[in-house]
Amino acid sequence: MEIGILGGAIAGLSVALALRKQGHSPRVYERRSGPATMGAGVTLWPNASFVLEELGLLQDIAAVSGRPRVARRQDAAGNSLGGIDIALLDQTMGYPTHTILRGDLQAVLLNHAAQAGIPVEFGHRAVGIDLEDDGKAVARFENGVSIRPDLLIGADGRMGSVARKFVAGDNSPVYQGFVNWIGVAQGERALVSDIAIQDYWGAGNRFGCVPVRPDLVYWAAAQARPLSAATPAADMRKEIEDLFAGWPEPIARIIQATPTHAIRMIAVHDLEPLHTWSRANVLLVGDAAHAPLPTSGQGACQALEDAWHLARCLQGKDRLDKALLHFAQIRGPKTAKLAEQGRAFARGLFATDPETCRIRNERAKASDPLHDVQALAQGWSQGLPLTGYTDNTAMDGAGFSSLYRL
Ligand SMILES: Cc1cc2nc3c(=O)[nH]c(=O)nc-3n(C[C@H](O)[C@H](O)[C@H](O)COP(=O)(O)OP(=O)(O)OC[C@H]3O[C@@H](n4cnc5c(N)ncnc54)[C@H](O)[C@@H]3O)c2cc1C
Repeated sequence: MEIGILGGAIAGLSVALALRKQGHSPRVYERRSGPATMGAGVTLWPNASFVLEELGLLQDIAAVSGRPRVARRQDAAGNSLGGIDIALLDQTMGYPTHTILRGDLQAVLLNHAAQAGIPVEFGHRAVGIDLEDDGKAVARFENGVSIRPDLLIGADGRMGSVARKFVAGDNSPVYQGFVNWIGVAQGERALVSDIAIQDYWGAGNRFGCVPVRPDLVYWAAAQARPLSAATPAADMRKEIEDLFAGWPEPIARIIQATPTHAIRMIAVHDLEPLHTWSRANVLLVGDAAHAPLPTSGQGACQALEDAWHLARCLQGKDRLDKALLHFAQIRGPKTAKLAEQGRAFARGLFATDPETCRIRNERAKASDPLHDVQALAQGWSQGLPLTGYTDNTAMDGAGFSSLYRL
């Protein structure tokens, strides 16, 4: 089948690789003029590693990633609020957790796409999709090109997906009341003493540090703000230094080791879950279908899961419409639940009332680490054949909402 994919990031490239393995002919169309260079990093939890292994990418990912064994939470004064035993999570789910810079992840995906003979057309910004009389969609690009593949996949992200507009009629993201500053710190010496995820919670603000190596740490700072104030300051580094002054090390050290030009501010939006992810021969995947908040920790992981499930849904199905419906039936409940959990977690995290923050911290401190790992493993394994967690449908909201995600 000829498959056109709009968007050449995590969802678009992983879907292309999975479908190529099934013998299809995917072609990726990306609006950027070349591979993305900006962006910090992502944590690929064991469910993502399962898919990466299935796609034959895990070894290359591991070569450029960190292997965190623990996630530690602290308050702004440095008091421990517990954490997650990532080594136990990995053992429970049967796959490793990796921390990776976005640029490195993108490079691995692009290398494998090239090896698999998948064309990636940069400089192709989709501007619209029209339905023709025979029920097939045509995608039009700003540069005058148009395509009419057998299957058109929208992997064009959360902030204005052309494919989502075609499928759902609306593609407006929802601002969720906080901004993120993201950056990558590169030290001449070690910035942190171990490969542990560190998460610091204040009142209405948060700082998370994720090492790939001791001298290479990506980070995300966050603050609750109205949308009207979600604009970058002239000197973002100074703004962040002031906001987190007096917070525990390594925060100041990490900000210091980040070049100003490598800091970016994001007004954080998500998308309402959709009832349907396809119209005619157009299907949504990744953030375009189900963008959760970063506080879910699962956006990229779920984009990868889409790739694995879509390949299976298309295999052996003679009717495309049925395969696309089946895909959304499988993926809808899990991604909607994760989006909901991301919102619930963000509400607690960005609360500004001192009493609410105190209760949140007490709950985090009192949470049972073993139960937390079980809850995460159960939720994130759902729908995947992972050790001991095949076909679970329940997700423990109570345990999940008190946990760490960045
Ligand atoms: C601060 C932050 C931290 C995060 N941390 C994690 C984490 O630790 N773990 C995790 O799993 N997830 C994390 N996420 C979520 C994750 O980044 C996203 O869910 C993931 O990148 C989605 O991938 P995607 O390919 O669907 O969309 P995107 O990454 O948005 O890619 C969409 C692609 O489509 C292209 N495009 C857009 N419009 C068009 C068009 N009209 N025509 C052609 N091309 C187009 C874009 O240029 C882009 O390349 C985080 C998100 C944020 C903001």
